[in-house]
Amino acid sequence: MFTAFLIKYAEIGVKGKNRYLFEDALVQQIKYALKRCEGEFKIRKTQGRIYVDAVSEFDFDETVENLKTVFGIVGICPVVYVEDEGFEHLCKTVVKYVKDLYGEQKKTFKVVARRARKNYPLDSMEINREVGGVILDECPNMSVDVHTPDIELNIEIREKIYIYSEIIPGPGGMPVGTNGKAMLLLSGGIDSPVAGYMISKRGVKIDAVYFHAPPYTSERAKQKVIDLAKLVSRFSGPIYLHVINFTDIQLAIYEKCPHEELTIIMRRYMMRIAETIAKETECLGLITGESIGQVASQTMHSLAATNEVCTIPVYRPLIGMDKQEIVEISEKINTYETSILPFEDCCTIFVAKHPVTKPNLEYIRRHEKNLSDVIDDLVKTALDTKETIIVHQE
Ligand code: ATP
Ligand code: MG
Repeated sequence: MFTAFLIKYAEIGVKGKNRYLFEDALVQQIKYALKRCEGEFKIRKTQGRIYVDAVSEFDFDETVENLKTVFGIVGICPVVYVEDEGFEHLCKTVVKYVKDLYGEQKKTFKVVARRARKNYPLDSMEINREVGGVILDECPNMSVDVHTPDIELNIEIREKIYIYSEIIPGPGGMPVGTNGKAMLLLSGGIDSPVAGYMISKRGVKIDAVYFHAPPYTSERAKQKVIDLAKLVSRFSGPIYLHVINFTDIQLAIYEKCPHEELTIIMRRYMMRIAETIAKETECLGLITGESIGQVASQTMHSLAATNEVCTIPVYRPLIGMDKQEIVEISEKINTYETSILPFEDCCTIFVAKHPVTKPNLEYIRRHEKNLSDVIDDLVKTALDTKETIIVHQE
């Protein structure tokens, strides 16, 4: 019965010039999400509203599911269009709409008419009253409540007439593309895809970097990261995924630095390299999936040691979350099943038996000096040989 969707978005931050940026980004992301759906759609922006019109057969549930991946949408209202063929025809259509949608359910309602086309013979007060009366006559299970109705039946008089009453919640947030870009350190675990999702929800476009260590980590581990990036890209839009071969750097650290400091030193090189790529690609910050105390390398001391090498902001959206809370989000965004596949990511091969939990920065800096005659070349080679994959939804 529905042929269109009215897209509701938050007005906050949508004042003045920003409004166009916000709406254009929203339309862009809606188009991206709808590419995944059967059917053809037209997106219209009129008078501060965005409509998605179906111009062919479409699958309602699939379309709604995909619209729910578009940040910035707070509500998705399925719309029925009526040709303006007189007021009586409108009333009949509204009654049919109410019966089709709510059947015999006992509900309270209120009619909210908007006359955007001023030459319509009735004004909005009159439409409210008249249509309300007809519904009461025809649908005995319905009663009026003007203050807190179960159903707000919207009737908008435009070129055509639009009827809608349902609001399906959207994901909220800001449309991707309204808030710059950041570089996600994406591993094959549970946390980093969730971190990327969360920052992307604030309107930030993301690129990603993955450090792999062949042959210690397999092609399948890399494929898993690509798959995770694909899942995140449903929300974030296409992701440039930079794959860095980290093997020689890891081996050098393994050879020349104390083993209990391996993870921290390794993490510091990941941050340095990620920052270099970030700066080359106009990313304004780094994103990680770290959370205080989750593992030895994420104690306050360890985070301070990792953070010390960064000169751009590091966003850690999961910092105060428990694992269970993170898992819940990963299930919601459908990355969990992929994240728990058992392929080694590069850190697990080189982990020490007893990693430091309170790394001493003096020591770390001193031990990094052991690498000084090789590390610049190794980092340069790693950067020169990076592979960039443009990842997007299928
Ligand atoms: P995740 O689930 O994201 O892998 P984790 O709990 O396994 O997190 P760590 O392995 O300690 O945590 O990694 C902490 C963060 O460092 C990750 O969330 C990610 O942002 C980054 N990171 C770790 N390993 C890699 C890697 N191989 N490539 C890119 N980023 C990585
Ligand atoms: Mg990990």
